[in-house]
Amino acid sequence: MKIVIVGGGVAAFEAALSAGKAGVPCEITLISREKVLPYRRPALSGMVAEPLPDAQFYIKPESFYQEKKIDVRLGIAAQSIDCTAKTVQLSDGSEVSYDRLLLATGSHCFLPPIPGIDGKNVLSLREISDLEAIRSRLESGVKRVAVIGGGLLGLELAQSLLERGCAVTVIEGGASLLPRNLDAEAAEVALRELGKIPNLTLKFGAVVKEIPPAGVRLEAEEIPADLVMVSAGTRANIELAAAAGLKCNRGIVVDKRLRASQPDVFAAGDCAEVEGTLYGLYGAARAMGQVAGKNLAGGEETFLPEAFPARLNVFGLKIFSAGVLKGAEAKSETSPDTGAFRKLFFDAAGKLVGCILIGDLKDALKLQAEIDAAPSGQA
Ligand SMILES: Cc1cc2nc3c(=O)[nH]c(=O)nc-3n(C[C@H](O)[C@H](O)[C@H](O)COP(=O)(O)OP(=O)(O)OC[C@H]3O[C@@H](n4cnc5c(N)ncnc54)[C@H](O)[C@@H]3O)c2cc1C
Repeated sequence: MKIVIVGGGVAAFEAALSAGKAGVPCEITLISREKVLPYRRPALSGMVAEPLPDAQFYIKPESFYQEKKIDVRLGIAAQSIDCTAKTVQLSDGSEVSYDRLLLATGSHCFLPPIPGIDGKNVLSLREISDLEAIRSRLESGVKRVAVIGGGLLGLELAQSLLERGCAVTVIEGGASLLPRNLDAEAAEVALRELGKIPNLTLKFGAVVKEIPPAGVRLEAEEIPADLVMVSAGTRANIELAAAAGLKCNRGIVVDKRLRASQPDVFAAGDCAEVEGTLYGLYGAARAMGQVAGKNLAGGEETFLPEAFPARLNVFGLKIFSAGVLKGAEAKSETSPDTGAFRKLFFDAAGKLVGCILIGDLKDALKLQAEIDAAPSGQA
């Protein structure tokens, strides 16, 4: 069985690994346009401050792929797919044929249509080449940075930039901090802590009008900045799939077995839209890669949606949130001793559907398991 995997992230890696373990003789080829082996992408934000040793950054060393007989082709992009001939055309002019194909092309940073967003002082962080560009700008003496987007990645970037000695302004269009991961009450708690950090300014409900060469123009003021980092969400990489005639919506449309709309083509990770959901999370991409790998090798595995949690540890503030952050009932409490905050969300039947923890995360896994458990009476 000839398996071709397009992509070089965690979904591609896990798929190659689990296809190889499935006990069916397979020839596995992994094609990545990045020049380096699959790595732990979430580590990139911390590496703006300080690089990690290779053993912590790369998922596995080169020798691993040789041992597993996975043919890894780096620095090569898949340019088009012929689903009838079952071939993939590559940027080096060659072509590979497949019996089964996995698209694990990930996503890219969304750049809002703001005048000046294509300026030379505007960068974003998704791949290792972006990290190199940011580090090189920082080495040229950048001192003031504006970060557009106050989500998880925006805050992680802010921390790294502060560690590099920059003054940072985080500009968030929403009314409060971490709008996808915290409700208004929890955001207030987090903000009380983050508001104490020197050289960090947080602006909410701020609409960016323009990015002139030396700053960011908001409705009523201009924030001076030598560098502007855009962290305004992501979009799935679907262009390759759409051009090949695969059904795409916001992501490549797949069923629970991660099968796309053409025979023998699968999609996993950030690029895949599973029954209407795009996950955009490392844990989900990993889990989808494992399922896709088994199915590439002939299995019939199902991807089971979970409450993939979000974790953040910035400026010493630990945050965990999982599940649906609204419900028929919500209960919040703050520890009088430690200041730790927790909020639990329940549905009308009293089942836990979501939680937010700030400060003390010791119950995180227990609560996540409870959220993932089916309601009583259901399998
Ligand atoms: C800085 C940063 C911090 C993050 N922090 C967190 C976090 O704390 N928690 C969390 O859950 N998630 C986090 N994420 C998101 C997480 O990294 C992604 O959800 C995860 O990496 C998705 O994995 P993937 O394999 O689907 O795609 P990706 O990791 O995006 O990999 C896709 C790969 O495919 C390659 N590719 C694309 N098109 C082609 C083509 N045509 N030919 C060949 N190769 C191609 C890309 O170059 C890339 O190497 C973070 C992301 C970033 C950028």
